[in-house]
Amino acid sequence: MIKRRSVLGALVAAAVGSQTLSLRALAAADSNKVRTIPWRNWSGSQKCEPAARSAPATVAELQELIASAKGTVRAVGAGHSFSPLVPTDGTIVSLSRLSGIVEHSSKTLQATLWAGSRLGDIGQPLEDAGQALINMPDIDEQTLAGCLATATHGTGVDIGCMSTFIEGLQLVDARGDLVYCDAKQNPDVFQAAKVSMGALGVITQVRLQNMAPYRLRRETVWREFDEILDIADTMADQHRNFEFFYIPYSGMGFTDTHDFTDEPLGSTEKIDSNDSVQDLKMARDWLDGSPRLRELILSSVVKTLSDEVTVESSWKNYANERNVRFNEMEYHLPREHGLQAMREVRAALEKNHPEVFFPIEVRFIKGDDIWLSPFHQRDTMSIAVHRYFEEDYRPYFATIEPIFRKYNGRPHWGKINTLQRKDFQQLYPRWNDFAELRRSMDPAGRFLNPYLAGLFG
Ligand SMILES: Cc1cc2nc3c(=O)[nH]c(=O)nc-3n(C[C@H](O)[C@H](O)[C@H](O)COP(=O)(O)OP(=O)(O)OC[C@H]3O[C@@H](n4cnc5c(N)ncnc54)[C@H](O)[C@@H]3O)c2cc1C
Repeated sequence: MIKRRSVLGALVAAAVGSQTLSLRALAAADSNKVRTIPWRNWSGSQKCEPAARSAPATVAELQELIASAKGTVRAVGAGHSFSPLVPTDGTIVSLSRLSGIVEHSSKTLQATLWAGSRLGDIGQPLEDAGQALINMPDIDEQTLAGCLATATHGTGVDIGCMSTFIEGLQLVDARGDLVYCDAKQNPDVFQAAKVSMGALGVITQVRLQNMAPYRLRRETVWREFDEILDIADTMADQHRNFEFFYIPYSGMGFTDTHDFTDEPLGSTEKIDSNDSVQDLKMARDWLDGSPRLRELILSSVVKTLSDEVTVESSWKNYANERNVRFNEMEYHLPREHGLQAMREVRAALEKNHPEVFFPIEVRFIKGDDIWLSPFHQRDTMSIAVHRYFEEDYRPYFATIEPIFRKYNGRPHWGKINTLQRKDFQQLYPRWNDFAELRRSMDPAGRFLNPYLAGLFG
């Protein structure tokens, strides 16, 4: 019998899997010591052997490092991106020693934070300072700079991606100079740097617009998937945060909502989130030759699961624990095409890929005006597909990606896709502005690894 949390967790798919090499351990070492240690990302799909790895303890050390480094310099956060943003044979630099709150204002509810802060480490200090992040993604392992660099998002039709919370930032450019930008000072650099994949410079501090601490009621409800498709648009408009999941070969999914509340803290039975993916994998292993039987069994089991409610401080109520590793492709589609695309994704998956067991995740994000934001000038519905990290994701993603492209989807910068420069040029009206500004700030391409050189070189 599949445990309750098991399927629920499966839906959320995830994993805090330990990286073989901990940058935090590096950070504990002497500040400027350069290590030649292989690097790999969270899922293990991206790897490199950099000439050097460094974790400076001060901005001055970072400036010196960038000014004197030979070859490419790539910033790394928590290594939670799936796309080849970090790999280099040059220098990998981590800001893990530059973390925490620099200053905050109770008047504006803004806080300046070190860019190397992990999301999970700043919730409590921000609460102590009378502030909370406006929204968060579905894990909190990432660094702030890493999230902003790829337009990391949570869900909510009236809430933009995390980069839209930025009010000002500071970076070290290719010459090792410190550059500050906001809407008034260096406004073009600001619009470019808010989502810049480490291609403009290494961001050291960001000033975020936050809000007063708040409590959220999270409710998870299991439903027939056809019902979810019918009510998704309405639910998205009714709840502060709304997302839904589909469990392949089950006909079932669940909706997840977060709303402001002043109810007392508490939770219904807490379900274990990580056995579930393994249980779905087991169902796949036993039943992948009989999709009908698989659907029968999975749907019967899922229908026995109870809904769940958790009331918690916001920063404890967004993130899940993802302990089963995967690779992921997520595209951001114009909201009006999202549900139709989701229908096609389900059909294509269930026609062609009985090997797939990871749930599909669907979220809503408000449009913005950031040059390289995938949400640029359009309200969005995002669809994310996952494949177990030990299995080849390419055949499945190759089936699904054309559906996303048909609807002019823009891929998440941190996730797998096959788009080239010419494709991005068509999808982003400010692409050339970004590329030109980038060239002017880094004419020698010191922040470009092979992947980014293909896009901007
Ligand atoms: C289990 C899991 C769950 C996820 N959930 C979500 C989710 O809910 N929503 C979502 O949108 N995404 C999600 N992601 C994707 C993830 O949020 C992004 O890929 C994010 O960029 C990872 O941050 P990181 O700190 O690991 O950065 P890394 O992956 O290490 O780096 C990402 C980018 O940031 C740049 N960077 C890092 N530090 C700096 C700096 N100081 N200055 C300039 N550039 C810098 C790097 O050069 C690189 O281009 C998830 C990923 C995983 C593995």
